[in-house]
Amino acid sequence: MSKFDNSFTDELRQRLSIVDVVSRRVPLVKRGQNFWGCCPFHNEKTPSFSVSEDKGFYHCFGCGEHGDIISFVMKSENVDFKTAISELADMAGIKMPEIKQKSKQQIENEENYIKIVDASSKIYQDLLYTESGKIALDYIKKRGFSDDMIKKYRIGYAPKNNIISAKFSNVNNEKLLATGLVRVGNYGVYDFFRDKLMFPIFNAHNQIVAFSGRSLDGSEPKYINTSDTELFHKRQTIFGFNFARDAIHRNNRSIVVEGQIDAIQMQNHGFCETVAPLGTALTEDHIAILCKSNRNIVFCFDGDNAGQKAAVRACMLVLPFLRDNSDVKFAFVTGGKDPDEILKTSGESAMRKIIDNAEPLVDFLWDVANKNYLVNTPGGRAQAERFLKDCVSKITDKILQNEIEQEYNNRKFNQWHKWKQQKYTPIIEMPDTDIMTINIIKSIVQTYPTISEKYLDFLTSLNISFDEENVLKTDLNLEDAEKFIISLKLKKYIDKLKAEKQQIITTALENGIDCKENISEIDEKINQAKEKLELLLDIK
Ligand SMILES: [Zn+2]
Repeated sequence: MSKFDNSFTDELRQRLSIVDVVSRRVPLVKRGQNFWGCCPFHNEKTPSFSVSEDKGFYHCFGCGEHGDIISFVMKSENVDFKTAISELADMAGIKMPEIKQKSKQQIENEENYIKIVDASSKIYQDLLYTESGKIALDYIKKRGFSDDMIKKYRIGYAPKNNIISAKFSNVNNEKLLATGLVRVGNYGVYDFFRDKLMFPIFNAHNQIVAFSGRSLDGSEPKYINTSDTELFHKRQTIFGFNFARDAIHRNNRSIVVEGQIDAIQMQNHGFCETVAPLGTALTEDHIAILCKSNRNIVFCFDGDNAGQKAAVRACMLVLPFLRDNSDVKFAFVTGGKDPDEILKTSGESAMRKIIDNAEPLVDFLWDVANKNYLVNTPGGRAQAERFLKDCVSKITDKILQNEIEQEYNNRKFNQWHKWKQQKYTPIIEMPDTDIMTINIIKSIVQTYPTISEKYLDFLTSLNISFDEENVLKTDLNLEDAEKFIISLKLKKYIDKLKAEKQQIITTALENGIDCKENISEIDEKINQAKEKLELLLDIK
């Protein structure tokens, strides 16, 4: 029936929740694992029409109708396949591809592509066990790969010379170029992968469609991948997914690690549901593919700054996919190690502990907000609040969105404000004033009532008693008297800032909070006040 590229209908099924699609026509209520409503295909008063979000299916126990998002739109709106697809594409916000039946030529091209890539992979595999591949073989063995693993993942070695362009010299250039394995330069066709440890990238049908090559001489980038081709789209391909797919279904979750070697090692140490993005950047498409099986994901990142950033990024991407039965967690491998090293040095149980102790998404985001912003200050709290609000707004399930918002409101009240009252109300006492200065102030107040009035607040804050009699009048003229008061005010202000700075440093140390921003703000105020003071004392 389908004249569309299967990948497009797959993408629609990945992107759209069947619950969202069906609820546009049929009100649904959640009961147990599934959603229920009155069947739109037969007349009924009690709901026997069930929708499974995880499986992407609907089924009516009354009339037996069943299907997916596409057949639902076709049947409920009585439209043809093409119209249904175009409507769903609109809903998913993606562009309709050109309708095209695969031509004979196209089918032949794809077959050629797969043939060339597969044969190339065999060449690379063989080369790994020759003299020229020795460094590559040593390296992969050192990383703990057995011969069986090398065989299963079809790991190979691309030599320094132009092997693919030479071996396929009888093949027409265009066909060869289409695979991304060779390129054309000034001197003709040359191999794209050279002196690389080769990891094949498989499609869902276990066919090799591309490669990821790791440099062996320490040169950067560490990995290069085949550029996008007709059969390989990097943003939509997850490394190890073909091997992990069954386990993701069986174990009802996926684990996402940062590197390809980590993914392979995890799969071979009992975490068969592990995958990795190609290169470092995780994409929305990757998440959509994983969420098709289930919405339970454990992201496992390095504990360093880059890992934290990657985790926040992953979190942002996954938020729109959250449902009330999603279980998304974040695990961090600390101590500068990656999953591969943990498995090697501490074994499977240590890794299992890390995965089991992964932090739920709601807690992870809360921690990020508290770590990245100075929540002991109103400004910092505002920033943290804005960050959390942005995150929560990305959740498309409105009821879930509401619940998480409530949860954060509770935490804000219980943790930020209570905490602030207990620890973060720095009351800086007015610094003491020496007796000589007190006497001068008293005489100024006695001599110039206008000054007393003008600086009443400040003078009161000094806690000096002005009720005494026998206070001598001052020798200072009005202008100098006022200067004296202003300079004193500035000095007190500076002392107060210094005390406040000390208090912030102490509290930050006690609570392990970063206070750099606050300190530099105070330092700036101190400097401004000092400048004013100097200016005042200079003009005499
Ligand atoms: Zn029915």
